[in-house]
Amino acid sequence: MDTFAIGLLCVRCGARYPLLARAACSSCLTGLDAPSIEDSSLSQTLAVEYDLDALRRSMDRDRLRSRPSGLWKWAELLPVADPACRIDVGAGGTRLVPLTRLDGSLPVRLLAKVEGQNPTGSFKDRPIGIAASVAQALGARTLACMTSGNIGSAMAAAAARAGLPAVIFLLASGGVSAGLQVNLEKLGQMRAYGATVLCPEASVLTLTRLAAALTRELGWTWMHDLPAYQAEGDKTTAFEIAEQLGWDPPECVVVPAGTGTNLFGIWKGFDELRRLGFTTSVPRMVAVQPAGADPMVEALRRGDAVMSPLDAVRPNIALPITHRVTGHHAYESVRQTGGTAVAVTDGEIRQALLDLAGREGIYCEPASAAALAGARKLLEMGALAPGSRVVCVLTSHGLKDGRAIGSWFGSAVPVEATLDAVRRAVASPAR
Ligand SMILES: [Zn+2]
Repeated sequence: MDTFAIGLLCVRCGARYPLLARAACSSCLTGLDAPSIEDSSLSQTLAVEYDLDALRRSMDRDRLRSRPSGLWKWAELLPVADPACRIDVGAGGTRLVPLTRLDGSLPVRLLAKVEGQNPTGSFKDRPIGIAASVAQALGARTLACMTSGNIGSAMAAAAARAGLPAVIFLLASGGVSAGLQVNLEKLGQMRAYGATVLCPEASVLTLTRLAAALTRELGWTWMHDLPAYQAEGDKTTAFEIAEQLGWDPPECVVVPAGTGTNLFGIWKGFDELRRLGFTTSVPRMVAVQPAGADPMVEALRRGDAVMSPLDAVRPNIALPITHRVTGHHAYESVRQTGGTAVAVTDGEIRQALLDLAGREGIYCEPASAAALAGARKLLEMGALAPGSRVVCVLTSHGLKDGRAIGSWFGSAVPVEATLDAVRRAVASPAR
């Protein structure tokens, strides 16, 4: 299983680069100073390119069925040539669940891709699994990242599996996450995997400069320097969805979108399958963002060619998708597929989370439940054709944010241990 990756391609200007660590397209960023680059959606335009014509001649979609599930099932379509560098924590192979109790009276079929099933409890095991493997292939001695949580857990697990040290900068007190706190569940996970977790007090721009200095002086490899490779992990979500639906892709995929790398990666996966002749269609891609942290919604409303960053974001219950700007690559994939972006409120996210848990038995993080809230918004808008299959990507497990979700409820009800008392208690339950 050799890789068919041949280089990097800018999805905006078409510039090509060799298959090496490169964070962004220098042509697209020409003329921008450092703070502007930090804020620019154009810092995310690079994608790994494959020799699909050659691969089409040697790969048979039916033969894929016999391979074990997981990221490396798709090794020809991933950018890691040396099998010894392929880090495997068991990511991927998650369930695609028809939401039959939620969509019974709806004109569309809803399905959930349950990414909380991944080993660290979030979809980040896919992008970080690939980026960390690329880092290893490039000779990394220490893996490093900046994160509000899930990337850190995924990187710490990958580093542990690879036997590499991990250093995590928590973005809990500065920059884009001002006023928001990382939760203890994620912190405990990172520490248990053996990562060093630091919480620097500085803007993201300052941290980005510090990261570059640490790379130069100490040889650290940062996950944010490998965004194009992260999207390669994300695209395996699309490969699995297509295979799970008998190579008949859904009409629409709804993805919670912060940086948008996941949404872009999923689009890229469907696009590659179509170009390989494994499928004949690509779904409409829909981004869901929290109201007040919805740069793509604003950009589409204005018809902008290039998205502008929001001046500020409003705090909400979906921290992992709270960003001032979304990558240009995600914006392009939404527009190219006739998709859209919708904003959802905390109340809508919370209701979606409770419906997924209480009616389908799927417990996810608020940022994940935003996908169902977004699908409901599309229905209200009349933006889904009757009979459409709509896949909601539920990015993370509810246990990732368990304390916050727990605070929505009162404490457990004390009850006298008698038949009558229990009967009375269940007849009028305190919620
Ligand atoms: Zn470019």
